[in-house]
Amino acid sequence: MKHIMPVLRTVLVLVLAGMFVSASSARAGSGKYQKTAIEEGEKLRPKIYELAQALWDYSETALKEKRSAELLIRALEEAGFTVERNVAGMPTAFVATWGSGKPVIGILAEFDALPGVGNEPVPEKKPRSDGVTSGHGCGHNLFGAGSVGGAIALKNAMVRHKLKGTIKLFGTPAEETVVGKVYMAKAGVFDGLDAVLDWHPSTETKVKNQPGRAMNNFTVEFFGQAAHASADPWNGRSALDAVELMNYGVNLMREHVKPTTRIHYVIPNGGEAPNVVPEYAKVWYYVRDINREEVEKYYQRILNIAKGAALATGTTHKVFLITGVHEYLLNRPLQEALQKVMERVGAPKYTEEEQEFARRLQRFVGKEEKGFDDEVKPLADKPEPPSGGSTDVAEVSWIAPTVGFSVTTAAAGVPWHSWATTACHGTEAGKKGAVVAAKIIAAMGAELMTNPKLIEEAKAFFMEKTKGKPYQSPIPVDQPPPLPKKTD
Ligand SMILES: [Zn+2]
Repeated sequence: MKHIMPVLRTVLVLVLAGMFVSASSARAGSGKYQKTAIEEGEKLRPKIYELAQALWDYSETALKEKRSAELLIRALEEAGFTVERNVAGMPTAFVATWGSGKPVIGILAEFDALPGVGNEPVPEKKPRSDGVTSGHGCGHNLFGAGSVGGAIALKNAMVRHKLKGTIKLFGTPAEETVVGKVYMAKAGVFDGLDAVLDWHPSTETKVKNQPGRAMNNFTVEFFGQAAHASADPWNGRSALDAVELMNYGVNLMREHVKPTTRIHYVIPNGGEAPNVVPEYAKVWYYVRDINREEVEKYYQRILNIAKGAALATGTTHKVFLITGVHEYLLNRPLQEALQKVMERVGAPKYTEEEQEFARRLQRFVGKEEKGFDDEVKPLADKPEPPSGGSTDVAEVSWIAPTVGFSVTTAAAGVPWHSWATTACHGTEAGKKGAVVAAKIIAAMGAELMTNPKLIEEAKAFFMEKTKGKPYQSPIPVDQPPPLPKKTD
């Protein structure tokens, strides 16, 4: 015994020392992997520009992104990815996979445009000469090209270093209608991921640190009885009355909701002519709040108001929940790791000519002439308060640890979702943002592929926040995605 103990101690010390050495060399190695990933991203600059330009030219809107999806699929297949098309019942949704084994890292790519914001890539309002009226005012042409570029760059870096692991690039259509990822999540497309990377074009380069809002997006249709509005109104039951009564009820309810609640509506159908009692009317609502529970609560109250309106007007009604999302679940360990990667890659840098473009655009829309923002913002200690809209990325963030970031692609302060951002996203200055995003995705991907401790920490944080509860879709299980009608 006396002799064995020192031997054991020596063995233990050696094993521990070995562990320490291998852990620290893995850390030193990850710097090397990140460097390769960033180099590979740079090599793809021409390809990313080409993809971003083609997507901008197509400017296809939600669930009609056929050519856009095909373009990205082709690029991924050429790079050796295996692509599954038509996922979750959406012809333009796809999953591209490369590699094998753990970890499995997801990368999100969006590519849909917005209706009505098309513009030439010039610093003034000028409709496109080819007659295309839709536009990439949200920069999803850069989002798609940057994410696909990032996935390919990561793959190339993994090949160079013979790294194990699986990359899954998700082509997620219809973000603008907050649909694509909701239905993909419901179909289990995001199951089995160890971590997910996501980004978005913006006027700033920073780690996402703001949870946005949970939301329900739904319509209420009322059905009444048509009649001559003057000759025999007593035979009529007005569906428009029901819509008006419902809206009045909701507007009174506003006094009795939390300050974080947002409710907005439009009336897509309110009858055809004043001399006909409208037998059909439709109102379209969004209700949002800082978490799913609050949204559910107000949604139920609004549905009761709709029921009351139908009862009071002698009409019937039908509710259709088009889509719903959670608030975005931030993941602190991933955010901190990503901040380091972003500082390493840096924000896009602009030529004087490009800054002049941005200033002219800012002058045109009456904003301060600050040009493009060209620095990486620091990560605050705590999440920023919820603001802005809702995103379907939130659904993914409740399925696997997810981290997002934004990169400057548009001039500071210009209105988002507008012709002005469309113009920025069609220039080389905008495309520089997509290349930066690709490098960040590739480098962060390389970090995740080689740093199991980071994935463990991300998962522990995720489990603590979700309390281990499985993801539950806000929409009914058997509901198919709202595909556009063939005639659209
Ligand atoms: Zn967007």
